[in-house]
Amino acid sequence: MHLPFANVFVSLVRHIAHNVRQGRELTYSENAIGITSLLTCPIKSQLSKQYGNIDPDFTSVEIEDGYLWEQQVKTALKEIFGDKVIDEYVLKYEFDGIKIEGHLDVVIQTNDYIIGLELKAPKYLSLKEIPKPDDIVNYTLLTNGNKYVYMPPTYVLQSRIQNYLLRQMHPDKPVYTFIFAKSLLIRYGYARKFYVVYDTNRPSMDDQEFSQVVEQWRKSNKPTFALECFMCQFFDYGICEGATYEPNNITENELDNETKQLINQYLQTKAELKRLETQLKKHLKGSVTLADGTRIGWHKYKRRTYDINKLIEKLKNDKTLINKYLTVRPSMVSRVTKQFPDIVIDEEESVSWQG
Ligand code: SF4
Repeated sequence: MHLPFANVFVSLVRHIAHNVRQGRELTYSENAIGITSLLTCPIKSQLSKQYGNIDPDFTSVEIEDGYLWEQQVKTALKEIFGDKVIDEYVLKYEFDGIKIEGHLDVVIQTNDYIIGLELKAPKYLSLKEIPKPDDIVNYTLLTNGNKYVYMPPTYVLQSRIQNYLLRQMHPDKPVYTFIFAKSLLIRYGYARKFYVVYDTNRPSMDDQEFSQVVEQWRKSNKPTFALECFMCQFFDYGICEGATYEPNNITENELDNETKQLINQYLQTKAELKRLETQLKKHLKGSVTLADGTRIGWHKYKRRTYDINKLIEKLKNDKTLINKYLTVRPSMVSRVTKQFPDIVIDEEESVSWQG
């Protein structure tokens, strides 16, 4: 590393990560299933029991910013509402012999009502439309998140389950739940950071929907989304070799309005992008690297043919390694090529468009 004082910055970042992560370990009763586990690959829960909670082999600014955001909100709420505020509020419920447990980031409990907040700080959220000034308070707070923001469905489901469990635990009081997020909101050229309130009270989860969520989790032994193995610490550590994600066949009638809206927006943007790309391919005679590092245009590259059998042999038939390099992360092939240059059988110059 050539930067002067580089070690100082490395220590600084390690220190920040350490401080922010301190005291984050959440505990669960024996044999209890966490709410987040209900939303992720069920194999992870089995492996956690066997191996304990393995920390992912990486730190992430996004995760650390999320923790900081939680600290900010909890501190501010305690200053405003005092002992009415409980952080990491433990939700407990027993369903059909399964103990379900969760930690709601923060709860405000009064004699008249209970409010539960799930705090999120994703790096960005996509907008359905540009927010109108009437829905923005003090230039920073977007109050009508449901109207403007595509909130990730797992966040919404998590908060709705929390709402269901809170209602089971406090049948005597009105319960309200919200996602309170801080994020960059993006649509086309528009990008602004906002605090966002997203209401998760309607439609409220009933017994039938809750039992479906638990049953689905109980019966499944597969990842819940396509790239889950790629992000899984058990995969990274070679403990689990991964499983194939099985997408459902969905008819158009089964789509909810928000997904339909998102598909429309996606198709319109894709068509516009295609038109622009066709124009640009005619205008740009070579390739250019822009100030932000983006490379765009026509570029030469070497088209390579690999001896995959030889590579498998070199990876010593280790199924986990083969999966890691060839199945889930095809881009890793170029890294392997550097390590084993003799797996390249043929190489020819070619030109392609990089957009
Ligand atoms: S690697 Fe994939 S299948 Fe294995 S536990 Fe992780 S997400 Fe589940």
